[in-house]
Amino acid sequence: MRKLTESPSLVELNLLSGYLKKEGIKTTILNEHQGGTPGVPHWALSVWAELWIVNDGHFHAAQRLFEQYQHERTQPPSADWQCAGCGESNPGNFEACWRCAQARAE
Ligand SMILES: [Zn+2]
Repeated sequence: MRKLTESPSLVELNLLSGYLKKEGIKTTILNEHQGGTPGVPHWALSVWAELWIVNDGHFHAAQRLFEQYQHERTQPPSADWQCAGCGESNPGNFEACWRCAQARAE
């Protein structure tokens, strides 16, 4: 088992876990129950949840998917685009310029 990443957000890790699962990669989340370890003082605990890859053989594939995942999230496909015809700014889900109807350029 190898640790892929950690995050203060359990929700974030669950999303990533689901993303990897779709690709057939089994993960497990540690520190899920924050502060719940008996006998360990609260201040000594890591407050971040950790995402671990169960099968070592999947680790490199998981790293690549993780990078891809981050890339997708930082560059949403719905980013605004600028019309080549009139220079107007259009929302990412528009396929043609709302102002002059010119089709979106690739
Ligand atoms: Zn236009």
